[in-house]
Amino acid sequence: MHLRKRVLVTGGAGFVGSHLCDRLLKDGHEVLCVDNYFTGARANVEHLLENRRFELVRHDITFPLYVEVDEIWNLACPASPVHYQHDPVQTIKTCVHGAINMLGLAKRVGARIFQASTSEVYGDPAEHPQTENYWGNVDPIGIRSCYDEGKRCAEALFFAYHRQNGLDIRVGRLFNTYGPRMHPNDGRVVSNFIMQALRNEPITIYGDGSQTRSFCYIHDLIECMIRFMDLPPGLHGPVNIGNPAEFTIRELAETVIDLVGSRSTIAHLPLPSGDPRQRRPDISTVREKLGWEPQTQLREGLRHTIAYFQGMLAPS
Ligand code: NAD
Ligand code: UDP
Ligand code: UDP
Repeated sequence: MHLRKRVLVTGGAGFVGSHLCDRLLKDGHEVLCVDNYFTGARANVEHLLENRRFELVRHDITFPLYVEVDEIWNLACPASPVHYQHDPVQTIKTCVHGAINMLGLAKRVGARIFQASTSEVYGDPAEHPQTENYWGNVDPIGIRSCYDEGKRCAEALFFAYHRQNGLDIRVGRLFNTYGPRMHPNDGRVVSNFIMQALRNEPITIYGDGSQTRSFCYIHDLIECMIRFMDLPPGLHGPVNIGNPAEFTIRELAETVIDLVGSRSTIAHLPLPSGDPRQRRPDISTVREKLGWEPQTQLREGLRHTIAYFQGMLAPS
C-alpha cells in the first residue's frame, strides 16, 4: 500500500505524458495533466476523462502555474526535430521558463520534481556508448540547439535549485522512445517508417542509413521513470533511460518493411544538418540502482506500434 499522491504531469497529453498519466492513475494517484496541445492532443487522454482522479487543464508552462501538488513530472516540450525546430524560440522558452516555473512551484509546495531530459544533451557524441559523465558535443548555435541547449539549461536549473534550495530533483535523460500514441506526422523515424510502410510509400532514409539509434519501448521507459521517482532521496541523476540495443536506420527500415509486409521501396534523402552519427545509452546506473532492464525487444514493440497506426488508418 502506498499513499495517494496529487501528481502534476506537464505535457501530459503528449506521447510519453499520456502513458505516464495511465500508469499514475493505475497506481491509485490523482493526476493533474497540464498541456497547451502544441504537439499533444486531447485524444491521447480522452479515455481518462471519465476518471474522477484525473483532471485536464490547458496551460502553457512558460507562464506561472499555482496549484497544490505533491509530485511534479516536467515533460512539456516538443520532442521531435520537426516540431521543436518549427518555433525554436518557443522551444527554448518552454525548456527554460517552463523549468523555472515548475521549479518555483516545486519549491513553494515542497514537491519532488522530475525533469524529462534527453540524450540530445550529448549532441553528436564523441564517446560511445554515452555514460552520464560524458559532457557532450553540442553545437550551441546549430538548428538543434534550441532543444539541446534548452534541455541542458533546464538540467543546470534543476541542479541549481537542488543546491540552492534543497529541492528533491530527479533528472532522467530519455533516449529515443517509441510506441502507440506517437504523433503520426511528427517526423520521427519510427512513426515515419511505419506510416510509409502501411501506405506502401517509399521509406525515407536520411543519408546512407548507417547512423544508429537505440529504441526503447514506451512501457519499459515508464517503468524506469516510476522506479527512479519512487526512490528515497539520494539519487538525483542525471540518469540515462533507454534501451541499449543499437540499430542502424537501415536495419530499422528493413525490420518495419518486414513486419508490415509492405511493398515499400527505400528512398534516400539528404541527412539533416547536425544529425548525430550514433547513439546508445550506457544504462549501468539504472541497472544497478533501480534493478531495471528493458523487457521489450524491438520487433515486439514495433508490432504493438504498427497495430496502433493501423487502427488510426482504418476507416471508422
Ligand atoms: P510530445 O510532443 O508527444 O509531448 C510533449 C507534450 O508537451 C505535448 O503534449 C505538447 O503539447 C506539450 N507542450 C509543449 N510545449 C508546452 C508548453 N509550453 N506548455 C505546456 N505543454 C507543452 O513528446 P514526447 O515524446 O511525449 O516527449 C515528452 C518529453 O520527453 C519531452 O520533454 C521530450 O523532450 C522528452 N524526450 C522524449 C523522447 C522520445 O523519444 N519520445 C526522447 C528524449 C526526451
Ligand atoms: N512559480 C509558479 N508557481 C508557484 C511558484 C512559483 O509558477 O507556485 C513561478 C514564478 O513565476 C516564479 C518562478 O516560478 O517566477 C520561480 O520561482 P522562484 O521562487 O524560484 O523565484 P522568484 O519567485 O523569486 O522569482
Ligand atoms: N530519419 C530517417 N528518416 C526519417 C526520419 C528520420 O532516416 O524519415 C533518421 C534521422 O536522420 C536520424 C534518425 O532517423 O538519424 C532518428 O531520427 P529522429 O528524428 O527519430 O530522432 P533523433 O534521434 O534524430 O532526434
